Amino acid sequence: MNGKKTIALIAHDNKKAELVEWAMFRKSELEKYDLCGTGTTSRRVSEATGLTVKGYLSGPLGGDQQIGAHLAEGKIDAVIFFCDPLTALPHDPDVRALLRIAVVYDVPIATNRATADCVLAAGISGFKDGAK
Ligand code: PGA
Repeated sequence: MNGKKTIALIAHDNKKAELVEWAMFRKSELEKYDLCGTGTTSRRVSEATGLTVKGYLSGPLGGDQQIGAHLAEGKIDAVIFFCDPLTALPHDPDVRALLRIAVVYDVPIATNRATADCVLAAGISGFKDGAK
């Protein structure tokens, strides 16, 4: 444990380029956190920014559920989730489950760039430090 808060990064296919661009723009702030993400998203962000991003399974293959489980265990303090509102996805139940569990545990979950900027600007308290 290094005391850093953990942010999970997820982007649906049509939003991956936007998340990569955002992560490059916000690199100096993201460096302060431990990062993880779904399979393809984590690899794309890591390649573009040079940041270490721990990769879970690809979203449609269970990555969203892995991140939801870690969130419920208190191991993820915020989620940046650029979801695609215009495309039907096979793993929509997993997406909804992740959104739901973030609400249950009052963990910030930013589903677009404007909210992601707000979350980073506000700072992330999380419950690793007993704040919850
Ligand atoms: P991916 O998963 O990063 O592995 O593409 C994201 C998703 O579609 O949920």
